[in-house]
Amino acid sequence: MLLQHERELVVAYGKKLIEAGLTQGTGGNVSVLNRELGLFALSPSGMDYFAIAPEQVAVLALDGRVVDAPCKPSTELELHRALYNQKPEVGGVVHAHSPYATALSCMRRELPPLHYLVALAGRRVLCAPYATFGTPELAEAVTSVMGDCRAALMANHGMIAAAETLAAAFKIAEEIEFCARLYCTVLSTGAQPVLLPDEEMERHFALFRTYGQPAGGRGST
Ligand code: 13P
Ligand code: ZN
Repeated sequence: MLLQHERELVVAYGKKLIEAGLTQGTGGNVSVLNRELGLFALSPSGMDYFAIAPEQVAVLALDGRVVDAPCKPSTELELHRALYNQKPEVGGVVHAHSPYATALSCMRRELPPLHYLVALAGRRVLCAPYATFGTPELAEAVTSVMGDCRAALMANHGMIAAAETLAAAFKIAEEIEFCARLYCTVLSTGAQPVLLPDEEMERHFALFRTYGQPAGGRGST
């Protein structure tokens, strides 16, 4: 099967999205890129994440060609494709309707640096202007605000994370949701959080480069 490993990852991470409470129903979508082949595997549209078989995951080319799609691919294929085409370091994308990040997106607020984990994505996470789901306008709106950041909020819709691997994008989505929850909790008291200064966020970028177990070492994943 073409892109078997990548298709299996899409199936596994789709289930994890639900299990982690990062999305509900058939909301959200995930993809993995094989940059050598110029192909990416993308979750099918509107399917129960626990009912997707690897062969039902779509394989698309970076130029937009549908290479193998036994089921209709995610409506957000232009969004995933735009991120892979515009960010050469990106190898995995997670889009989710996680409750707190989505609540911020409904207020059209950015996620400020209120916790060091925001630095997993960037200095702050901006909110992309509103556009209808599944449109090229939404892909343009998201890529226009992302810059070097590895995540964005999507106005009145949800959030997206794009990183070197699908595992890294998933971890960012989880931690950005945690930080969004903190921010909503603080705002709900009527207070404003004290934000971390730029130089402290810079320190975290450096720390995250070596955080955890060394790649390939005992205990690494
Ligand atoms: P799909 O089921 O087509 O991936 O759409 C879900 C979604 O979240 C659209 O933004
Ligand atoms: Zn969505």
